[in-house]
Amino acid sequence: MALTHLQIKELLDENRYHKCDGFGEDKVCVKIASIADLPSRFGKFQVVAFWNNRDGKEHAAFVHGDACFAENVPVRLHSECLTGDAIGSLRCDCRDQLEAALGALGKMENGILLYLRQEGRGIGFINKIRAYGLQDHGYDTVEANIALGFRDDERDYAVAAHMLQSLKVKSIRLMTNNPRKLAGLTALGIKITDRISLIIPPNPYNEFYLHTKATKSGHLLDTEGKEHLLEQTDRPVVAGMSNEQAVEIQEV
Ligand SMILES: [Zn+2]
Ligand SMILES: [Zn+2]
Repeated sequence: MALTHLQIKELLDENRYHKCDGFGEDKVCVKIASIADLPSRFGKFQVVAFWNNRDGKEHAAFVHGDACFAENVPVRLHSECLTGDAIGSLRCDCRDQLEAALGALGKMENGILLYLRQEGRGIGFINKIRAYGLQDHGYDTVEANIALGFRDDERDYAVAAHMLQSLKVKSIRLMTNNPRKLAGLTALGIKITDRISLIIPPNPYNEFYLHTKATKSGHLLDTEGKEHLLEQTDRPVVAGMSNEQAVEIQEV
């Protein structure tokens, strides 16, 4: 069962007057600003819009089923990627990851996708496109990645942890292929009871993961030797991948 009108009203009232010391180094505080039903092609969701005290980025939670006030809730963190999520860019596989996560959560009894508005690893859209431009002009992925900046994981986890607390989630099962990602949220007081792998269906566009060759610098080559920038913090396991390949991806 989704949030009732009464529960929504109570959450909104409580958030209106919410004050805390903030999460993480940046002392990030978020407040639930509004909640509405959101039927989608992935199932019935409710969308929760968040305000935060650090910038104008309006983060979102997509909640399926009875997930608030619940234990062992499947949770996926997704970072915004305009070119991938909305346009279907093949320079990354963000949309594959997003669709696989929503599809999986929509079929589960309950679950939450936190959509973090941190385009281009938190450095913004302009800089992300700048990094793409560098690649187009022959810079390699390492140089382009430096231009793209490195994801501020700590900041992400602080926002996510506070969002989960605002939603009254008691404990989670984190949907990630990277066991190391659990530590960031745990450090911020989130109880993680399990990890769920994110497995994306194979298609012509993510085939490069199936044939992946993880290198020292952590970038991935497709079958034509073209390099892909990573925009999400963890790497998807594609259905059909061997165990060795899956482990290789997780360990880089
Ligand atoms: Zn707060
Ligand atoms: Zn992307």
